Amino acid sequence: MGTAEPQVAADARTPVTDGFHLVIDALRLNGIDTIFGLPGIPITDLTRKAQAAGMRVISFRHEQNAGNAAAIAGFMTQKPGICLTVSAPGFLNGLTALANATTNCFPMILISGSSEREIVDLQQGDYEEMDQLAIAKPLAKAAFRVLHAEDIGVGVARAIRAAVSGRPGGVYLDLPAKLFPQSIDASAAARSLIKVVDPAPRQIPAPDAVQRALELLRGARRPLVLLGKGAAYARADAEIRDLIETTGIPYLPMSMAKGLLPDTHPQCASAARSFVLPEADVVMLVGARLNWLLSHGKGKTWGGQDAKAWGAQKFIQIDISPQEADSNVRIDAPVVGDIGSCVSALLAGIGSGWVKPPAEWLDAVAERKNKNLARMAETLARNPAPMNFHSALNVVRDIIRANPEAVLVNEGANALDFTRSIVDMYQPRKRLDVGTWGVMGIGMGFAVAAAVVSDQPVIAIEGDSAFGFSGMEVETVCRYNLPVCVVIMNNNGVYRGDERNPTGGRDPAPLVFVKDARYEKVMQAFGGVGVYATTPAELRRAMEEAIRSRRPTLINAVIDEGAGTESGRITSLNPTAKKT
Ligand code: ADP
Ligand code: MG
Repeated sequence: MGTAEPQVAADARTPVTDGFHLVIDALRLNGIDTIFGLPGIPITDLTRKAQAAGMRVISFRHEQNAGNAAAIAGFMTQKPGICLTVSAPGFLNGLTALANATTNCFPMILISGSSEREIVDLQQGDYEEMDQLAIAKPLAKAAFRVLHAEDIGVGVARAIRAAVSGRPGGVYLDLPAKLFPQSIDASAAARSLIKVVDPAPRQIPAPDAVQRALELLRGARRPLVLLGKGAAYARADAEIRDLIETTGIPYLPMSMAKGLLPDTHPQCASAARSFVLPEADVVMLVGARLNWLLSHGKGKTWGGQDAKAWGAQKFIQIDISPQEADSNVRIDAPVVGDIGSCVSALLAGIGSGWVKPPAEWLDAVAERKNKNLARMAETLARNPAPMNFHSALNVVRDIIRANPEAVLVNEGANALDFTRSIVDMYQPRKRLDVGTWGVMGIGMGFAVAAAVVSDQPVIAIEGDSAFGFSGMEVETVCRYNLPVCVVIMNNNGVYRGDERNPTGGRDPAPLVFVKDARYEKVMQAFGGVGVYATTPAELRRAMEEAIRSRRPTLINAVIDEGAGTESGRITSLNPTAKKT
């Protein structure tokens, strides 16, 4: 079973093992085969030994990127992604990713080495002294510390359960330096390990909750389904498709739920979003929260008179968290359970006598959608010089259509918003982006993990500002020779690149970068392919070649520096956004 090669203690004949091997054995016993991290005191040897034991150890240049990689690996696989860091500063660098994972319901475990308890608690100034457990607690779904080697099995088991059961999230596991060399009798060690049985148990919805939801759906004149990333995570792809197609209800995918059904599906209402949200009378949320991304379910977006008004809509919410309902508006029919079980129960309850929504509603949605799609097609067909977001993303759209198995990573402001609306997705869990926080910096961490986990080509569409947060990881991409193609939408700045210092002084405006920066040379520096592209044709050629060759590639797509609006599509959240 384990990798703990029994060593014979010098003074006795009993085989012993140690904390290092027990951590590795505990992870492997639970099917965890990859660690994302950054070596250093006190976990350097752990990374060596994990690799020697046959695990994949992916070493990054900054812990935040390793943490983001672990988090998205968790989302893609339903197994907790592991991020391993050194103490205090390394731990803190990983913490942003841990908090982001918790916010996004991604299962991950941040394992950090830490200094000696006795010294930390007396604040005697140990090397990298910090009470890491206390600091991680409010940012994690759960946090644990293991002091004795015989408790490693329990610690890892609890961390795994906490990460993946119920609503998934980030878990912190604190492993003090002293734990690793602790030796322990090998047979006692083997007995102390736990292979977690049923780590994410199914949660079956109550039959009356299912009936309540079905009654609302049956009575709806203008029903709408909203699919969120919880639905993508749940891997109930076939059941969800069946529910959508059996009921005939139009649906809207949230950003990371795109591709659960192909965006080109006739029932997809993405292109009519601003029409269906206020018009729908019954909305069924499937693994999606009514947070800011959905205007909290009220106000103008939802047909309310003013920003505070609650719409007249009725809501059904399928969610694994019993606390989610009513967080923003009244949920008339909460269905609590795992999405696979809930959707199956709804399907079973629907039976054969289901009547599709009124033609009046479906026709209205289709009309709005077709009008908007035609307008978009016109915009995409233009070929301005210099390139703008639309003409560049038209290429990306074609590339994804031809390579639907490719994973699309996406961050930025305009680079995010335009990509989300222009680039259709065809398969589930292929679009990975800034998520619930709209966090910048996930780019290269997500790209590395996506390539490692899926072995499919990865395309990262990055704003030039967003890329800067994790750009050094192109070295990691090259070192592990991953099939990652980074496309930088380079408009010379944050939002846009044409701002000036109003004083005429020598400093540039705070939102602009070096003009005509040659980002592609960063990739060339590490042996990858770098391409400078100023036209859609050049961009297309370079992307096709990247997919074909599977070589690490960075394309510097030069965009009109006047293209882009402040804060992209969320200008309304920025009280003083410059009008453009
Ligand atoms: P989006 O931003 O795409 O709308 P959110 O992150 O807001 O998605 O919402 C995801 C929701 O999915 C969370 O409320 C979470 O509790 C729920 N969820 C996650 N996994 C499951 C699952 N397996 N079954 C049911 N609900 C889930
Ligand atoms: Mg920019």
